[in-house]
Amino acid sequence: MSLPYDSWQSRFTSFSNFQKFIDNKKVLCKCGIIISLGNPYQVSNFQRHSQSNNCNYRTNNQPSINVFFSKTKPERNDNDENKDNEENRKQSAFICQGLCDLEYINYVINSPASFGSGKKPEIVAKQLFPGKFSESTPFTRKKLGKEEQKEFERALESEATWRLDKEFLVVYHMQYKKKTDNKNAICNKCEELKCNKCLNKVLKVVNFNINIIY
Ligand SMILES: [Zn+2]
Ligand SMILES: [Zn+2]
Repeated sequence: MSLPYDSWQSRFTSFSNFQKFIDNKKVLCKCGIIISLGNPYQVSNFQRHSQSNNCNYRTNNQPSINVFFSKTKPERNDNDENKDNEENRKQSAFICQGLCDLEYINYVINSPASFGSGKKPEIVAKQLFPGKFSESTPFTRKKLGKEEQKEFERALESEATWRLDKEFLVVYHMQYKKKTDNKNAICNKCEELKCNKCLNKVLKVVNFNINIIY
């Protein structure tokens, strides 16, 4: 399945330095530099650039005039250089981008859940509302009232190992670290998730048959 354009776009427009898409693999930053994304609409390279020293917009916080005229960086004076080095020391870490490969994106889009864990939602629901879902009554979220839905979400959250970010179409570990020194901009906790058996099982099902609603 293909994603609605807006979903892809929102992962970039949340950055204040985003100017526009050149095509699906190239993005123009407000600092005037064009960033190659590697894969279509993959945000990691752009994110890395945004947090790096190479991005002049971040330090000046205003669009370079070069956005409109050229692709090269503007010259800067020594003051800028010092400021940059200082900033750089403070921000040597990347912000964790979570797991955002296509298989994870498919999962986030196709799952009604906001949290995931080893426990199946129907089992959590049966424990929570034993009167509602007996052996013979299959679990469905539609049977839950508004308050019950909230209670159910809270229960799922407390059981959860990972979180489905519906806005940015990313999977994060529940204890994800915001900043990481890892070069791939994925924190160790999220990295752990890649080997999580339960998550991999769900991914397999979702990606094998994209029509199954989990
Ligand atoms: Zn930039
Ligand atoms: Zn993380």
